[in-house]
Amino acid sequence: MLGPVLLAAARSDAIRRAVSATPLTRPVVDRFVAGERLDQSLAAVRELTGAGLAVTLDHLGEDVTDKGQVTQARDAYLALLEGLRAEGWGQRAELSLKLSAFGLRLPGGGEEFALRSVEPVLAAAEEAGTMVTLDMEDHTAVDGTLAVLAALRGRFPRTGVAVQSYLFRTEDDCRALAAAGCRVRLVKGAYREPASVAYQDKRQVDLAYVRALRILFTGGAHPMIATHDPRLIAIAEELARRAGRDVDGYEFQMLYGIRTEEQLRLARAGHTMRVYVPYGTDWYGYFMRRLAERPANLGFFARSLLTR
Ligand code: FAD
Repeated sequence: MLGPVLLAAARSDAIRRAVSATPLTRPVVDRFVAGERLDQSLAAVRELTGAGLAVTLDHLGEDVTDKGQVTQARDAYLALLEGLRAEGWGQRAELSLKLSAFGLRLPGGGEEFALRSVEPVLAAAEEAGTMVTLDMEDHTAVDGTLAVLAALRGRFPRTGVAVQSYLFRTEDDCRALAAAGCRVRLVKGAYREPASVAYQDKRQVDLAYVRALRILFTGGAHPMIATHDPRLIAIAEELARRAGRDVDGYEFQMLYGIRTEEQLRLARAGHTMRVYVPYGTDWYGYFMRRLAERPANLGFFARSLLTR
C-alpha cells in the first residue's frame, strides 16, 4: 500500500520542499546517493572501481520545465566527462541520463530539442572512450526515449537504453532493440503505472522479466541485467550459459548502496558488475523511488528522524 503513496509523493513539489529542507534526511539519502558534488561522485567511483566494479554515473535531474535547466544538465555531464577522462577509466565508467532532464517533456518539439541537447554529451563520452545509457522514465516517455535513441545510435551505436518488464509493450520493444544489436538495460520498473499499460502484480512483473531476458539473450542485444533479485540473477546466469554468451556478452547492474556484498560476489565470480552511481542536488525523486521499492527503507528513514 505504501509504495503507491510514496510514488505519488515523489511527484509532489510541496513534499519535495519539506523533505529536502530537513537536514535529518541527509544520512538516509547518503545511503543511496554518492554525494551532491562531482568530486564526491568521483571519490565513490574510485572506491568502486578499486574493488573491481564498473559504474554508470547519473547526474540527478528530471522533468525540467525550462531550457536553462537543460543547459545546466548538459554542462554538468560535460564536467563529469572531463573528470572521467582525467581518471582514464574508459568504459568502466559510463553515463546514465534521463531525457526529461534534457527537455523531452518541454512543449512544442521536446523530442527534437532533447536530441540536440544530448548530442554534445554523447560526443564527449565517445571522446572520453565511454558511452551513455538512456534511463527509462514513466510510460508517457517511452516512445520519445526510443525515438531519440534510434536517432542517436546512427552516430553513437553503443548508446544503450533501459526497458521495464512491468510494461506490456516491453517484449515487443526488446525484440526490436535486440534486432538492432542494442545495449539494453532490463529493469522491473520504478514508476506508478496504470493497469492499462503495466502489470500490477509482482509475480507477473517477474515472469515478464524472464520473457524479456530470453528475447535479449537469444537476439543480438547486449543485455544489462539490472536487478537485485537473486532468483532473476540466477536465471540470467543460466540463460547466458544456454545462449553461449561469454562474460563480455552481457553484464549485471545494481544500484549504489543496495546489496553491496552481492555486487562484489558477482564481480569476483568474473562477471561485469556495474553499479549505478547517482549524485547531485536533485536527489528527491530518485530517493523517493528507492523508499517506495522497499517499505523497510521507510522504517530506516523514520527511525533516523525519531532518534534525533
Ligand atoms: P525487487 O523485487 O524490487 O527487489 C529484490 C530485492 O532487492 C529486495 O528483496 C531487496 O533485497 C533488494 N532491494 C530492491 N530495491 C531495494 C531498495 N530500494 N532498497 C533496499 N533493497 C532493495 N527503473 C526504471 O524505471 N528506469 C530505469 O532507467 C531504471 N534504471 C535502473 C538501473 C539500475 C542499475 C537498477 C539496478 C535499477 C534501475 N531501475 C530503473 C529500478 C528498477 O526498475 C527497480 O525499481 C529496482 O531495481 C528494484 O527492483 P529489483 O529488480 O531489484 O527487484
